[in-house]
Amino acid sequence: AARPRELYTAADPLELLGTGAEGRLLGSPSAWAVEFFASWCGHCVHFAPTWRALAHDLREWRPAVVLAAIDCADEANQQVCNDFGITGFPTLKVRACMCWARAWFHPSATVEDLRHAIITNLEQSQDAWPPSCPPLEPASTEEVRSFFQRNKDQYLALIFEKSDSFVGREVALDMLQYENVAVRRVLSSEEELVEKFGVTTFPSGYLLLRNGSFSRLPVHVEARSFYTYYLRTLSGVTRGSYKLNTTAGAANETNTPQPKRADRSKVYMADLESALHYSLRVEAARAAALSGAQLDAFKCYVATLVKYFPGRSCVQTYLQSLDTWLRNWTEPELPRSILKEAMKNNRDASHPAVLPTNVTWVGCQGSEPHFRGYPCGLWTVFHLLTVQAAQNGPDKELPLEVLNTMRCYVRHFFGCQECAQHFEAMADESMDRVASREEAVLWLWSHHNEVNARLAGGDTEDPNFPKLQWPPPDMCPQCHKEEWGVHAWDEQAVFTFLKAHFSPTNIYLDYTE
Ligand code: FAD
Repeated sequence: AARPRELYTAADPLELLGTGAEGRLLGSPSAWAVEFFASWCGHCVHFAPTWRALAHDLREWRPAVVLAAIDCADEANQQVCNDFGITGFPTLKVRACMCWARAWFHPSATVEDLRHAIITNLEQSQDAWPPSCPPLEPASTEEVRSFFQRNKDQYLALIFEKSDSFVGREVALDMLQYENVAVRRVLSSEEELVEKFGVTTFPSGYLLLRNGSFSRLPVHVEARSFYTYYLRTLSGVTRGSYKLNTTAGAANETNTPQPKRADRSKVYMADLESALHYSLRVEAARAAALSGAQLDAFKCYVATLVKYFPGRSCVQTYLQSLDTWLRNWTEPELPRSILKEAMKNNRDASHPAVLPTNVTWVGCQGSEPHFRGYPCGLWTVFHLLTVQAAQNGPDKELPLEVLNTMRCYVRHFFGCQECAQHFEAMADESMDRVASREEAVLWLWSHHNEVNARLAGGDTEDPNFPKLQWPPPDMCPQCHKEEWGVHAWDEQAVFTFLKAHFSPTNIYLDYTE
C-alpha cells in the first residue's frame, strides 16, 4: 500500500495542501477542486491516477481553476479535514462561489466526467466569478457583431456546438493564459450566426478577424485539443497575462537583431552547427582539464557525432579528425589549452576541416537573446542523432547508444545544473527499459515533451514560442487522437513523423557561413 505522500508528489501539477490550507482556499479568487484523501485508503490509491491525469489535463486553466489534494491521514491536516466535514475518502469538493459543494463522485468517474463537473459547477457561481476566468456562456449574435469594438483582441474564435457539448467552454479555458485571442461558444440554436457562417457541423470552429473576414479552423479532428493547439500557434497569439514573473520593460529596439525567417517544419543546419560549436568549444571546454569519466564522455560525444551527424562535408571532416586525435590521446588528463588547439579549424588542407565558429540561431532564434538558442539547438542535435541511429543501424543492437551519449554529455557538461539533474532523474527512472533504436527515438521525444509540459508558462518560456506538446496537430495531424475525451498520441505516426522531420533532406542551409 502507498504510504503517506506517495500518492502525489511535488512534480504533479496540483497543489498539495497542508496546514494553512483554509487560508489558501478561502482567501483565493480562483475556483478550487480539492480531493480530500487518506493515503492508506485503497479507493484513493486507485483514484489517484485519475486525479493526477485531470491535473495534467487542466494545468493551463490556472489561475481560474486550481486542482488540489490534501491528505487527511496526515495528523497535521486533521483540523482542516474536520472543518470541511470530511468523513469518507476520497471526497471531492469544488469551490467556485464562496460556498463549498460536495462534488458527486463515482469511483469510475473519468477525467472527462470530472472536467465537465467542474465546468458545470463553475457556471453556477455567477456571483463570484473567478476574475481570470473567461466568459463561458454562449455568445449572442449581437455580442459577436460588436466584439471587436469592445475588445482589443486580434482574433475571435467561435466554437459552434450543441447545448450539451463542453468543447467550446474547454477551449475557452485552455486559452485563458493566452493574449490576443478570445474564444466563445455559439449554440446550434443561434440561427442567425449559424446561417451567417454557413455552419453545418457541430462542433466546428471559426476564426474571425478584426477586418470582419472569417475562416473555418483547419483542424484534422473537430475536438478540443485540435482547436487549442491551432489557436495557440496563431501569429500574434502569446501567453501573457498569467506569467507571474514577467520581466516587464520595453525591449531595447536598437539592440534587437533582425529576426531571421524560420519555418518550424524545417531543421536548420545553422542551429545544429551553432550547437556543436558551442558544446564542443565552449561548454565542454570549461574545465581546466578533462579526465576520467568526463574525458570518456567527451570522446563518446565526438565518436557518436562522427557516426550519426549528417553534416556538411567540411564539418564531417572536422569531426573525424577530432575523433582520430582524441583516440590517439592516451594520457589520463587532457588540458584545456591542448584541447582548444586541437579543436581549431583547418581550412588549408585538401579536405578542409571546418566547424564554423559563429553562433547563428534560426529555428532556435528567440524573441530576445535570453530565450531559446543553445538548449534548443542541443535538443535538436540529439533528436537528430537518435533518428539517424535508428535509420542507420540494426534496431535491436545498442539501443541506448545515443541516449547514453546524451546522458553522459548532459551529466558532465550541460551548464544548466538544474536541467541536468532533472534529465538524470528521468533517465534513471526509465532509460534502461529502452529496448530498440526506435524506442530510443520515442523515449527522447516523450521525455522532451515532459520537460515542455513542466516548463509551460514558466519564466524561461519565450512568449512568442509557447511550450507545446510537440509536434502540434498542424504539423502532424495523424500523430494525435482523442481517447475517452482525453488527448492521446499515435506513437507509430509520431515515429514516422520524427523520421521525416529529423532526416538529412529536411535540414536547410539558410544562414550558414
Ligand atoms: P526546446 O524545448 O528547446 O525545443 C527545441 C526544438 O525541438 C523545438 O523548437 C521543436 O522544434 C523541437 N521539439 C520540441 N519538443 C520536441 C519533442 N518532444 N520531440 C522532438 N522535438 C521537439 N529548462 C529549464 O528551465 N528547466 C529544465 O529542467 C530544463 N531541462 C533541460 C534538459 C535538457 C537535456 C535540455 C537540452 C534542455 C533543458 N531545458 C530546461 C531547456 C528547455 O528544455 C528548452 O530547451 C529551452 O527553454 C528553449 O526552449 P525552446 O522553446 O527553444 O524549445
